[in-house]
Amino acid sequence: MAQIIDGKKIAADVKAQVREEVEALKAKGAKPGLAVVLVGNNPASRVYVSNKEKDCAECGFASYEYALPEETTEAELLELVDKLNSDPTVNGILVQLPLPKQICEQTILHAISPAKDVDAFHPENVGHIMIGDFNFLPCTPAGVIEMLDAMNIEIAGKHCVVIGRSNIVGKPMAMLLLHRNGTVTVCHSRTKDLAAQTRQADILVAAVGRAGFVTADMVKEDAVVIDVGMNRNAEGKLCGDVCYDEVAKKASAITPVPGGVGPMTRAILMRNTLTAAKMQFK
Ligand code: NAP
Repeated sequence: MAQIIDGKKIAADVKAQVREEVEALKAKGAKPGLAVVLVGNNPASRVYVSNKEKDCAECGFASYEYALPEETTEAELLELVDKLNSDPTVNGILVQLPLPKQICEQTILHAISPAKDVDAFHPENVGHIMIGDFNFLPCTPAGVIEMLDAMNIEIAGKHCVVIGRSNIVGKPMAMLLLHRNGTVTVCHSRTKDLAAQTRQADILVAAVGRAGFVTADMVKEDAVVIDVGMNRNAEGKLCGDVCYDEVAKKASAITPVPGGVGPMTRAILMRNTLTAAKMQFK
């Protein structure tokens, strides 16, 4: 039976470390803060934003929430981003996605100052990740690496297979594994014989967005399985991309959903906010 990778516990350790450093900054008179912008009434986004506020409180950051109505225009949101870019009390800016359809997400993400881009979605930061010279790492892939490190799971020399190639998860995940000397295969919806690819994986990362997508027959004996997926099953329960019960019998280590990658994503956002604050206070 696989060892369960406890994302909650590892995330709590990361946040405790962040809190310590935030307290040290505050003792020197600095007040680090994160601005979170929510547009519209998406209930899932509402939950994510309130979780980020809780994390900020736990880590000692000031948090500034901007809840804008669904009909906000792109120009109005750009004006707010501009204001936050030049506000010295705001060290990190996060615009919660998705945005209403009248607003181009790319335009907004590109308008956030790269120095305050704690999600690491700005092309300048994406470029830094590509060349391995970065200040911010995208929260979910960085959270996965942090978990592997916390579990002393070696990446170098391992065959890592990532299912998914989104800009938010799959592509940066592949890049971070490559930076850590993994041999990386990226799979997507046009991959032929996906199971033949995934069965090669020493470390398998699933970021597809489909409940029950990864079954035991797709997993090599003793593989490490990281489930990024966050889906709702027929009963409305949160679940990942991996058939947990059957895959756990075969894997050497596995992340649960909930309690796996999700808490790590939140913890790395806090660490990125700290990094932004330290850079700006310098
Ligand atoms: P996305 O943008 O929809 O990307 C999904 C990827 O899966 C795409 O690259 C797609 O391939 C691939 N895919 C779809 N069907 C496939 C198939 N049959 N075979 C192989 N590949 C297939 O989603 P995302 O933003 O990366 O998120 C993925 C999942 O992670 C979602 O459940 C999301 O909620 C979750 N998530 C979790 C966290 C967390 O903190 N735990 C953070 C972010 C996202 P194509 O490119 O060819 O379409």
